[in-house]
Amino acid sequence: MATPATQAKQRTPETAPCDYDVIVIGAGVSGIYQIKRLVDLGVRATVLDANQDLGGTWYNNRYPGARFDSESYTYGYSFSSELLNEWHWTERFSPQPETLRYLNFVVDKLKLREHMQFGCRVEAMRFNEPTDTWQLSLNDGRALSARVVIAGMGPLSTPTLPKFAGMADFKGISFHTANWPHAPLDLTGKRVAIIGTGATAIQIIPVIAQQAGQLTVFQRRANWAAPLNNGPISAPEMAAIRARYDDIFAACARSPAAFEHIPDSRRFYDVPPAERRAFWDRLYAEPGFGIWLANFAEIFLDEHANAEMSAYIADRIRQRVKDPALAELLIPKDHGFGIQRLPLETNYFETYNRDNVELVNSKATPIERITATGLRTSERDFEFDVIVYATGFDAFTGAYDRVDIRGLGGQSLRDKWAEGPVTYLGMLVSGFPNMVMLGGPQTAAANFPRGSEIAVDWIMPLLQHMQAQGHTRFDAQAGAEQAWFDAVKLSYQGLLMSKAQSWITGYNSNLDGHEYGHTRYNIFATGGVQYARHLKAAADGGYAGIAFA
Ligand SMILES: Cc1cc2nc3c(=O)[nH]c(=O)nc-3n(C[C@H](O)[C@H](O)[C@H](O)COP(=O)(O)OP(=O)(O)OC[C@H]3O[C@@H](n4cnc5c(N)ncnc54)[C@H](O)[C@@H]3O)c2cc1C
Repeated sequence: MATPATQAKQRTPETAPCDYDVIVIGAGVSGIYQIKRLVDLGVRATVLDANQDLGGTWYNNRYPGARFDSESYTYGYSFSSELLNEWHWTERFSPQPETLRYLNFVVDKLKLREHMQFGCRVEAMRFNEPTDTWQLSLNDGRALSARVVIAGMGPLSTPTLPKFAGMADFKGISFHTANWPHAPLDLTGKRVAIIGTGATAIQIIPVIAQQAGQLTVFQRRANWAAPLNNGPISAPEMAAIRARYDDIFAACARSPAAFEHIPDSRRFYDVPPAERRAFWDRLYAEPGFGIWLANFAEIFLDEHANAEMSAYIADRIRQRVKDPALAELLIPKDHGFGIQRLPLETNYFETYNRDNVELVNSKATPIERITATGLRTSERDFEFDVIVYATGFDAFTGAYDRVDIRGLGGQSLRDKWAEGPVTYLGMLVSGFPNMVMLGGPQTAAANFPRGSEIAVDWIMPLLQHMQAQGHTRFDAQAGAEQAWFDAVKLSYQGLLMSKAQSWITGYNSNLDGHEYGHTRYNIFATGGVQYARHLKAAADGGYAGIAFA
């Protein structure tokens, strides 16, 4: 993406300084906004990213069909009217190439590339107590130091592969969806396996089915999904969106999940069943998350209401899949609608009506091993040219667990979080001074950039406060951290999703320590509105819960 002109300005390991006021890790949506604010203040700061270029999620996830479930115009940055006025989103739910182009447009427009360094992975970070600085070790051999580290390392940036025997034996092409090859991959006529039926698989399957000779999908657990109802945004429509940007972002700030979709205020039981169905018919036909987030609150709280909603969506699946037995296999039986993050789809269910698509129930006939030519289930051998692992991410804490982070007294963050994350406001960790997280565990926004902006806007005055007071260290107090953990835990209470087998509860069958039954409290489930209030209250109270020294 970098042009020769911009590349020339980029720092290389040979020319970059070793000492900074602030190091930002991650050049995704969060890191880009963070460095903008730091550069504006003239802070000596840099961004480090393991990737070869900026974009984070949108640099990595290049699989066919990769796109937002967020309305594009609610996902873009809100802070610059110049950016808002110039950028034209061409689809209501932007595809990955357009989003990556957008992030490059932002960085080039704001001249941020010269503050970024790529191809450098932070492997270890140690807090040096006598100097109140972090010492960072990079995979390129460099040792850097910074007063403050701001980690925007990504909520879904660490892919997890399954643990099948024989994965290295496969002679064809295989990769995780987050590592889809950058060079074009022609699947015409190929025999392709997709392992997994989560949000990514649901995006990729309809697209690949049109190219592949044969597509075989291995499903262990069915997932609820509802139509994305995507469409183009014409120039006049984009002009109308521009004219109401203030309202759009204000609506996001009022919504628990930071979307334009606001939960219906009526009580489920006050609305007669026929009217409920008519309401759902309308939501099912609308673009985006309305069917999930503009629904009755009881869907998330009340088993009976959730069962009725699930039955409605199950009927929709039955209408769309011709083979009744196949439809039943695609209808989740182990969890209710919407208690896991809802994947949105385009022709997902119809894809199973195609002759070249097969669905294998890998709960009934588990995959036993990957072979040189394909894979073996408990029932039969399959031959493939390509195996795609759509097996998700080590969500929220994965990127942190991959770095050896040592705070006061040499304490390891990995050890501290062994049973699950513990944070203050999802931003700080007690005992790990001068370290800030953006998009880390125990924050709220489901529409991530909205949350990133709130987080950066919160941390900047804190840094200025520290500097103005002549302090060199800030650290969350243990009591404040415990209180936040208690609030996060309480936010799960009564929610049906607290039993979900998903990243909301930290479940991941491919990761040791993430087994079902031990909840890892990964998000502040009460939502963005309350979350923003907590941040504001802490700041207004002179950064209550934070000790400065
Ligand atoms: C397929 C997919 C679809 C999604 N769709 C949506 C959506 O519709 N709406 C929504 O709101 N969110 C969506 N998300 C979530 C998405 O991750 C966030 O929206 C957002 O992109 C997060 O930005 P970030 O900058 O916080 O993290 P990321 O974009 O993940 O960037 C983190 C960066 O940190 C770097 N990094 C990590 N560890 C290190 C290290 N040790 N050293 C150096 N660099 C490191 C990574 O290389 C990466 O570039 C989606 C995620 C995926 C995977």
